[in-house]
Amino acid sequence: MGISRDRLILLPGSLAAHHRRANEIIEERQRMATSPERVSVHGGHSGQFCDHAEDMLEDIVQAYIARGYTWVGISEHMPPERDELSYPDELEAGLNAAGQQVRFADYMATCRRLRDRYASQIRILVAFEAEAYTGFEHWVPAVRKKFEPDYIVGSVHHIDDQLIDGSPEWYRAAAEAAGGVDGLYCAYFDRQYEVIRTLEPEVVGHFDLVRIFDPDYRERLVKPDIWRRIVRNLEAIRDLGSILDFNLAALKKGQPEPYIARPLLEQARKMDIAVVPGDDSHGVGNIDRFWNEGVRILREVGIDLEWKPPA
Ligand SMILES: [Zn+2]
Ligand SMILES: [Zn+2]
Repeated sequence: MGISRDRLILLPGSLAAHHRRANEIIEERQRMATSPERVSVHGGHSGQFCDHAEDMLEDIVQAYIARGYTWVGISEHMPPERDELSYPDELEAGLNAAGQQVRFADYMATCRRLRDRYASQIRILVAFEAEAYTGFEHWVPAVRKKFEPDYIVGSVHHIDDQLIDGSPEWYRAAAEAAGGVDGLYCAYFDRQYEVIRTLEPEVVGHFDLVRIFDPDYRERLVKPDIWRRIVRNLEAIRDLGSILDFNLAALKKGQPEPYIARPLLEQARKMDIAVVPGDDSHGVGNIDRFWNEGVRILREVGIDLEWKPPA
């Protein structure tokens, strides 16, 4: 490129300028094509506001800046309405529901301060990750109305108020209660459908998290009763214009591929649904860790790498 540009400078003034500009546009397009903007649609859990994460939120924001991220949606877990819906780490830390609600208010205020402080270096979106336990259809809108985040990430971590992603034992217990692993998948995708329809989240978090402790997930996802639910949920996401979180943290936890799995990703592409990487980072060490691997997969599947922002 350098050589042709030197040659162009020998052309008469305005024409040379015109060609230089054309070259710059081509170069910019090539750069965009080979290296998409670094973003995260779901990330930024911090030890400051979550007991199963690490580091201060400001350190996390600075890490995103250091890695060249263009925009990041910080989406901390929402607080529960009642003590018994807490994550175990919060209960162990002696933080009841009321305490978590106070800490969450601090999170929203701190995140907005950091957004403003670093506005010239990165676009921070202030969000939260919603839960789908009993009463979510009232509790999530109440929290949303009170704090007015830029957007929410609709996630399902519970089936019948039991966490499914914390350990293989919890997963097995939830599967038993659901009449088997197939039943757990059906219950998960049915609850997710309620979340999509009721909360209309701008982003759907780790769409197929239910596969987390299932080595046979590839066969199971395409079983007719399960696949039918997946397509139904994707149709609802498409109709809302929401975004799928391509959740790279799955790789950190030893999954063979990010959430969402390849056949679902292909289905999403066919349906023209926006897919955007989310690192679901729970500390500075997770940031940017699986970016290249994630982008490689998205490129292979033909997902649009000009990311749609959630707000
Ligand atoms: Zn978390
Ligand atoms: Zn989550």
